[in-house]
Amino acid sequence: MSERMECMCLDCGISHYIPVTDLTIETHPDFDYPVVSNIFCTKCGGMMFIVGKEGDQPFYVTEYPDKNR
Ligand SMILES: [Zn+2]
Repeated sequence: MSERMECMCLDCGISHYIPVTDLTIETHPDFDYPVVSNIFCTKCGGMMFIVGKEGDQPFYVTEYPDKNR
């Protein structure tokens, strides 16, 4: 089982959990977070950025109703 990253859409704010091995990550000097360059939001097609590892959120605390999915 590969580790997944939480990726949040810049346009609609939805989080996607994507295996690290599927991700191509870029950094931009004018943006604080790493940006996913090869996968886009499945809902709106927007660009996503990396929030952190799944279950390990350095930037904010939240609760997951679907934690056991
Ligand atoms: Zn979106």
